[in-house]
Amino acid sequence: MTALQPVRGTHDLLPDEARRHRLVEETALAVARRYGYAEIATPIFEFTEVFARTLGETSDVVTKEMYTFTDRSGDSITLRPEGTAGVARAFISGGLAQSLPLKVFYRGPMFRHERPQKGRLRQFHQIGVEFLGVESPLADVEALALAWRILDTLGMADKITLEINTLGDGESRAAYRDTLVAYLSDFRGELSEDSRARLERNPLRVLDSKDEGDKRIVAGAPEMSGSLTPAARQFFQQVTDGLSALGIPFTVNPRLVRGLDYYCHTAFEFTTTALGSQGTVLAGGRYDGLIAQMGGPPTPGIGWAAGVERLAMLVEDMPPAERPVAVIPMGDAVAGLSVAETLRGVGLAVEMGFSGNMKKRMARANKVNACYAVILGEDEMTRGFVSLRDLDTGTQVEVPLASLAERLLGRG
Ligand code: ATP
Ligand code: MG
Repeated sequence: MTALQPVRGTHDLLPDEARRHRLVEETALAVARRYGYAEIATPIFEFTEVFARTLGETSDVVTKEMYTFTDRSGDSITLRPEGTAGVARAFISGGLAQSLPLKVFYRGPMFRHERPQKGRLRQFHQIGVEFLGVESPLADVEALALAWRILDTLGMADKITLEINTLGDGESRAAYRDTLVAYLSDFRGELSEDSRARLERNPLRVLDSKDEGDKRIVAGAPEMSGSLTPAARQFFQQVTDGLSALGIPFTVNPRLVRGLDYYCHTAFEFTTTALGSQGTVLAGGRYDGLIAQMGGPPTPGIGWAAGVERLAMLVEDMPPAERPVAVIPMGDAVAGLSVAETLRGVGLAVEMGFSGNMKKRMARANKVNACYAVILGEDEMTRGFVSLRDLDTGTQVEVPLASLAERLLGRG
């Protein structure tokens, strides 16, 4: 029995780490609001079909990584491995087609049964955005500008690179598919088993293989750019021109494809070399066919998701936590609690010293990085005074209890 261990690939967010996660999520949400995004929260589990139908039957996520179970009603349920399919489902079932264009931001846990390693968990967290209803390549540029600004606000701009590519439109992809199959067929015997299956069903997926042998073969494959229609080429040109106009640095990576099936045109990843092999921190692209494929009205869309664990590891300057005021009652503890409540009532963070001698309680006050200690001596209290010690300078003064809150708020 290993019941006292977290399940492999899961981990606790202990307070320090929870604070890093919170910073990443809150920063992202605040920046996203400036771009017109509102928060949305969809359920953590959906009918399996929602993911199986949209992510692609041959994708790694669907073939190997989903947490799927039959619930007590006999329905096949899957813990969400990503956020886009659930948002698309909500868009359709919630009748949001009337409110286009729609910009939503989500955050929360995702579940994938993959091999755990640094930066790769079975329960991890994502932040992400979906921008539905705008066909223009400028929507792609704006969604990328948002991603860039979030990463920059988190202080990561110099550690990340934006790689971008185009997967073209349907016609371009059909042409490329033929070219690619012709090339890969010569290597059929050398491809991994997974990629041989992909060659039949979804050859573009082979480009995304993590198998070393596959990667060598893929390195010599013809590039998508040779198969683009003029319209798809122009679309991509407008995206890259837009990025340049906004001063957002990027490199075109002609090998970049996305792991899920619903993407077209723009595909991108923000990568870093600072995290070892799990170097992709944020990834996304355009998915114009997704909503219609799920049974909704044809609706263009673009979105991205970022791994919060990976971003949290890259955050260097954590803003300091708010410094509390320590309340140290030497006599009547209830009086102490009542003073603490008064101070909390005006918005101050208060650490209450419950037990121990004066020395121990002062040590505790320093440990929690308190800015002031409010010491409640019994004699003083009967006179209506308390001692206020500035823990940075060590200066201590007597203050009337009635004006303590005002004084701590810097108004007294
Ligand atoms: P990878 O190539 O690392 O497997 P992916 O293409 O499967 O990534 P996406 O589905 O695009 O990833 O998810 C977006 C982001 O979510 C990734 O760039 C990464 O930061 C994060 N992410 C994905 N899977 C995991 C995981 N198992 N553990 C932690 N973070 C993850
Ligand atoms: Mg993956």
